[in-house]
Amino acid sequence: MAAAGLAVGAAAIPRRVPAQPAASDALPPLPELKRLVAANRILANEGVVDAFGHVSVRDPRNAERFVLSRSRSPALVELADLMEFALDGTAVDARGRTPYGERMIHAAIYAARPDVMSVVHHHAESVLPFTITDEPLRPVVHTASVIGARVPVWDVRTKFGATDMLVRSIEQGRDLAATLADNTCLLIRGHGAVVVGESIPRAVLTAIYLTVNANVLLAAQRLGSPEGLSAEEIERSSQAQFSALALDRSWEYYCQRAGVDPG
Ligand code: MN
Repeated sequence: MAAAGLAVGAAAIPRRVPAQPAASDALPPLPELKRLVAANRILANEGVVDAFGHVSVRDPRNAERFVLSRSRSPALVELADLMEFALDGTAVDARGRTPYGERMIHAAIYAARPDVMSVVHHHAESVLPFTITDEPLRPVVHTASVIGARVPVWDVRTKFGATDMLVRSIEQGRDLAATLADNTCLLIRGHGAVVVGESIPRAVLTAIYLTVNANVLLAAQRLGSPEGLSAEEIERSSQAQFSALALDRSWEYYCQRAGVDPG
């Protein structure tokens, strides 16, 4: 508090430097960030993620950043858990919160793919057999056409040798992103999958249908030789699945099942 007699003007009064922002300082409740919370709940509700796995969005205010929860199971994620990251995986304002160990997956993909607005990483059991065999995870049902014709498999061991199997460094993330190339889905050997999309609903629906397709393909292989979709069928069907009508209908359905507001 400045004494009146000493204050010769506002400039003479030392400006109080604010302390660290309070823990309640959450990112603003932008529609895209609310959708990110919904995406966490949907992926958990559909069994795509469990205690582990995560989903992010490119920051709607700054394309050089992305938003991801602090290290927390997706079923429990709230707006206050969301953290901002630079494209090298550095937290912008961590405030003591612990980020996911595998955030480099997201960082490297946003840096390499300007078209990607949302990234999902999961360990869904149905896709795992395809990460450890030569059997390609190819689309065999129309709803899964959105996974794309090719789902590459990335193996951390190829360039980084024996590790704890997690994607921990930005160099590992960049190598993974190079294998993803311009595809929509990627499998990680003995670990899980990565799914990207031009929007949160597209990434979430693709992640769900990647697991559906894996289950159908596994079941069909017990009966005979499964027939896949042709390149033209993949192209035409994915356009239908990603039409505004189909996307809105799917998003509303999955939000209702997860008990979250579609926004
Ligand atoms: Mn993982």
